[in-house]
Amino acid sequence: MDKEQIWQAVLGEVEIGLSRVNFITWFKDTFISLFENDKVVIGVPSEFVKKWLENKFYKIIKSSLEKIAGQKINEIYYQVEFKKLEAIKKINSGEKNETKKSIKEEPIKTAEAPSINRFGLNSKYLFENFIVGKANELAHAACRAVINNLGKVYNPLFIYGGVGLGKTHLLQAIGNELSNQTNKILYTTSENFTNNYVQAVKTGHGKDFKNIYRGVDLLLVDDVQFMGGKDGTQEEFFHTFNELHQSNKQIVMTSDRPPKSIPAIENRLISRFESGMVVDVGKPDIETKMAILEKKAVERGYSFDREILVYVANNIQNNIRELEGALNKIVAYHEFNNAAPSVKSVKEILSDLTIESRSKSISPKDIIEIVAKFYNISSKEITSNSRRQELVVPRQIAVYLIREELNTSYPTIGNELGGRDHTTAMHAYNKISGQRQKNERLNQEINSIKQLFYSSIY
Ligand code: ADP
Ligand code: MG
Repeated sequence: MDKEQIWQAVLGEVEIGLSRVNFITWFKDTFISLFENDKVVIGVPSEFVKKWLENKFYKIIKSSLEKIAGQKINEIYYQVEFKKLEAIKKINSGEKNETKKSIKEEPIKTAEAPSINRFGLNSKYLFENFIVGKANELAHAACRAVINNLGKVYNPLFIYGGVGLGKTHLLQAIGNELSNQTNKILYTTSENFTNNYVQAVKTGHGKDFKNIYRGVDLLLVDDVQFMGGKDGTQEEFFHTFNELHQSNKQIVMTSDRPPKSIPAIENRLISRFESGMVVDVGKPDIETKMAILEKKAVERGYSFDREILVYVANNIQNNIRELEGALNKIVAYHEFNNAAPSVKSVKEILSDLTIESRSKSISPKDIIEIVAKFYNISSKEITSNSRRQELVVPRQIAVYLIREELNTSYPTIGNELGGRDHTTAMHAYNKISGQRQKNERLNQEINSIKQLFYSSIY
């Protein structure tokens, strides 16, 4: 096993708990620069990344390194260095780490580094490699309908659902499918839209910005929830939306929650978002997970026994991105060891990924942080004394989730939430617990937050 292979396997482990954006942000252009005895030097592209890796990922990098290299590592240093390796280039281009295929079987299809085309689309997101199951069939059908009747039905189409469930895949598949019919396609994230807009205004190119966004036949906006709280952007998007909509140009958006649940978003936007078709994607059932796993394994040159498929599908519960992460890990491990996967080896490899082991690693502070992030406020605000309505509900939800997920005692929960009384904590728990039954929107928000627990490293 050489340095590059070891690092690939470590990345395979690390990425499982991270969103793609996070993974690429922190791990692109990283590599093992030196591996000597029990000392490892990791090359990183900047001081900023160095600090993050040191602080946030120290433990997981160390333990993965030890596990994969099969030895104790006593010193890990990070060094700002720049070097492009083949595998790193792939990460750069948006592809998760691929491992080389050392196993004899020829892959049916080589997983090539995907290219981002001129519309901002990644060529790997296609309908043909999207597996349809109960949880996404409505969303899938709506996307197909949009393609066949561009701008005429379901306009806008609004797709929402938790992380890693295929929203971006569907959104980009629409663009890819139509890219040979029209030139006027634009894919953007709402963050990108915001940044471009701010930049354009600053440099006096506001008009160009308008022309670009208002001149398309198909506008795909990913993760619109991030427009919450950004007034200038919302204003601009509102006008862009209206202009496109009035001229029957198609708009498709995704979000991690339904329009009404986006915090700090203008009512006029909510009503626009809801004016076409709103569909959700949910967690895949076991059958769908098995089908996805099987397909992706075959793409990598593997064919898993049914028993392995069942095991992985049952144990990776949250989303499809994690399923892919698990697959990467399995592939990486078996390539280094040049062995065929068995249920036993797969169990071992995935032992720290299963749902029970994940939930054990979450603390009340993590929950507070995640709830805060979801509602676009800070942890400090949640634990503060302020009685502002937009803080009170998230605070109560934090109490509720700490109790539900960790079974923490009320006095401890009170303490974690800025030294509140245990009766306050109990009251908050009962309140949310009761409202959750009656209020579907609240219920959905809580479900979305819960999904976040298991899909990020904190
Ligand atoms: P989201 O945007 O909802 O967070 P993504 O679209 O990024 O999720 O999906 C995460 C990963 O899972 C992607 O690599 C995507 O290709 C894959 N994926 C999601 N849903 C499916 C599906 N139904 N069939 C095949 N792959 C899927
Ligand atoms: Mg996405």
